[in-house]
Amino acid sequence: MVQPILGIHHVTAIASDPQRNLDFYTEVLGLRLVKRTVNFDDPGTYHLYFGDEAGSPGSILTFFAWPMAARGRAGVGQVEITSFSIPAASLTFWEQRLLAAGTPAVRSESRFDEEVLRFTDPDGLNLELVGHSGSDVPGRAWRDASVPVQHAIRRFYSVTLCEQGYESTADLLETMGFRKVGEQGNRFRFDVGQGGAGARVDVLCASEAPFGNIAAGTVHHVAWRVSDDEAQLAWRKQLLNKRLNATPVIDRCYFHSIYFREPGGVLFELATDPPGFATDEPAEKLGETLKLPPWLEPHRTKIEHVLPPIQLHTPVKESG
Ligand code: ZN
Repeated sequence: MVQPILGIHHVTAIASDPQRNLDFYTEVLGLRLVKRTVNFDDPGTYHLYFGDEAGSPGSILTFFAWPMAARGRAGVGQVEITSFSIPAASLTFWEQRLLAAGTPAVRSESRFDEEVLRFTDPDGLNLELVGHSGSDVPGRAWRDASVPVQHAIRRFYSVTLCEQGYESTADLLETMGFRKVGEQGNRFRFDVGQGGAGARVDVLCASEAPFGNIAAGTVHHVAWRVSDDEAQLAWRKQLLNKRLNATPVIDRCYFHSIYFREPGGVLFELATDPPGFATDEPAEKLGETLKLPPWLEPHRTKIEHVLPPIQLHTPVKESG
């Protein structure tokens, strides 16, 4: 019996200006910069990781920051929307906070009885805050954020995949242990493991929509959580049996990864929970300095010379 997939591990998107990206996610959304490193496949550019206090799997939004990247377009074959979980009572707080930050948000009509606040980041990335009951996971929000802890983003709520047709993707999701839990118009909702926030994916069947173009302001891939290396290898075998071209295991230092494309075109990853972000710097210092994997450490001087300087500002707590 293969260990179940536990939910969303992380979402990786593309940004342009790294400082603007850092300011938005730490100062406006109140996430913690949990790792400042480079794109291991393109070490002249940043890979910035944001998350809760510890960078727990299920809270991690990461960015490849490519200063010269053109603006992309969300569409078919992509993660179209990344949604975070907030308490239902915090929607008005966030509506006002985002407006004050120059990021007006719109309330969508209620979806599966939940209220949704929709906005974009400075690069145009589609984001949502979903207000719902049961969103309180104590002790995980970043204590030093400028957002009062009772309103803080704790983790993801879901990702929404935009697909031309949904059957093949649904079939793969079911192989991965997801089950269909809802349907509203052209939206099909699947849960995995315990289900609910962080263990949920919506498949939006938009056969008329144009294909997306992956560049700044779009999602590059979504990673799903596996408990350990053994579970990952077992899942890799299952995927190969499904005739999906999964990569060999790749060491990402903070987790181990395999990648494959789901039938609708979205790049999926399976990432292990361990070892996590406190593996190369103390938990209280996460994100403060540039960390490099051992194989890039000999090139540190050159890498630091190429990377644009960025500065992490100390947040000022808002009373709430
Ligand atoms: Zn990834």
